Amino acid sequence: MPAQLIDGKAIAESLREEVKQKVSERVAKGLATPGLATVIIGDNPASKVYVRMKQKACQDAGIYSVGHELPGDASQEEVETLIRKLNNDPKIHGILVQLPLPAGLNEEQVLNSISLQKDVDGFHPINIGRLAQKGREPLFIPATPSGVIYLLEQSGAQLEGANAVVLGRSNIVGMPVSMLLVHANATVTICHSRTKDIPAITREADILVAAVGIPEYVRGDWIKPGATVIDVGVNRVEDASAKRGYRLVGDVAFDEAVEVARAITPVPGGVGPMTIAMLLRNTLRAARLADGNDVG
Ligand code: NAP
Repeated sequence: MPAQLIDGKAIAESLREEVKQKVSERVAKGLATPGLATVIIGDNPASKVYVRMKQKACQDAGIYSVGHELPGDASQEEVETLIRKLNNDPKIHGILVQLPLPAGLNEEQVLNSISLQKDVDGFHPINIGRLAQKGREPLFIPATPSGVIYLLEQSGAQLEGANAVVLGRSNIVGMPVSMLLVHANATVTICHSRTKDIPAITREADILVAAVGIPEYVRGDWIKPGATVIDVGVNRVEDASAKRGYRLVGDVAFDEAVEVARAITPVPGGVGPMTIAMLLRNTLRAARLADGNDVG
């Protein structure tokens, strides 16, 4: 029987609706409208598209958003001065610096300059550090990784005691997903470009998260029957029959995997839409933290 499809688009829509509702309730009570500041440095076209999508989503949810753009040759001091200004702006509850930064800027220092209470992207070294420690809670969890965990939960996957395999160890996806799975009491194996015999490892996985950025890398016979598969990959492959000349595929060979897995995310329409939904949720949380209300 083909796998259950984990419909990230529908799940994200319902989360966005929930955030919108909560924003309107708090505004009706006279509490501050949640505010998100986005910062883009340089001319990366993909970054501009992502930031526009995030701003549009804020607008739809009733969240105030303001965009800042700095030139690609902006100095470390200029970037940090802008962030300090946003840290002190009471209308702004969340600050999102779109990554990657142009070469020459110190990413860790930029992320470190964001106020911990406004770190809605969850990449501040202290938030990431807390994620890596037992019994500590970060104030914010990065959006894509928390979207992965949310989809796993929604799919009915049992995380506690499960064998989870994460393909990829990047700072933005693989590593934080792995740490979140450990927090959820899964036993986690992290694979990367130097790992030997990855198919033998993935065949033991009750939960498989793929975040390598290689089109259809994971084949159907790498998957344990009954596993839950979350495909984070978004890759363009040429397709002359498609209007734009390409189509998007994940890191998993979907047509093969769907015959083996218990549940699987599609690409597009799986993890992708969750990222923005989780960012909105984090921004609402940041506004509640500013109220002095530390409820999730
Ligand atoms: P990344 O920074 O390029 O990291 C890729 C990871 O995969 C690295 O850890 C790398 O290992 C590992 N890897 C590369 N080749 C491998 C191989 N042959 N076998 C095993 N592991 C291999 O990528 P990323 O930023 O994490 O993104 C991963 C994918 O997720 C991309 O397709 C990206 O577009 C997608 N993505 C989607 C969303 C979303 O849907 N919202 C958000 C972010 C990313 P090393 O560490 O050894 O180099």
